[in-house]
Amino acid sequence: MKKATPVKPAFRMTPQRAGILSFLDGNKGHPSAEDVYARLKRKFPGMSFATVYNTLQSLISIGELAEVRIDRSRRRFDPGLNPHSHLMCVRCGHITDLPHRSPALPKGAPRGFKLLSCSVEFYGLCPLCGRAVKKEKKICPKKKQK
Ligand SMILES: [Zn+2]
Ligand SMILES: [Zn+2]
Repeated sequence: MKKATPVKPAFRMTPQRAGILSFLDGNKGHPSAEDVYARLKRKFPGMSFATVYNTLQSLISIGELAEVRIDRSRRRFDPGLNPHSHLMCVRCGHITDLPHRSPALPKGAPRGFKLLSCSVEFYGLCPLCGRAVKKEKKICPKKKQK
């Protein structure tokens, strides 16, 4: 059964919501709701986490914010709406934007399949974490033991 297209809900602007919007504007850090809350609770001491969460949810529903699903431990948000791919460091959680290039459909896809969208996610270690892991391995005496 096809769901009816929901009517875009109106976004009521409040000082707190304006604060959240300006924090997100041009933000490349892919913050989580917790990050947004931690940053703004000093400015808006009366603001609850639910307000932040609901605001992010409303922004998604009106298409002003995208959800990034690369981090499986928590939902992260991205105000950059032009299509792009993500690369995440599995150690520190840093997410980098990558220019999106639609890959060719791999062999095995049904013939005549019309590709509408595709998301590519890269996981690895950023240079800083890569160096830290190397150091940890050096310190760890396990390998030298006989
Ligand atoms: Zn890292
Ligand atoms: Zn992004």
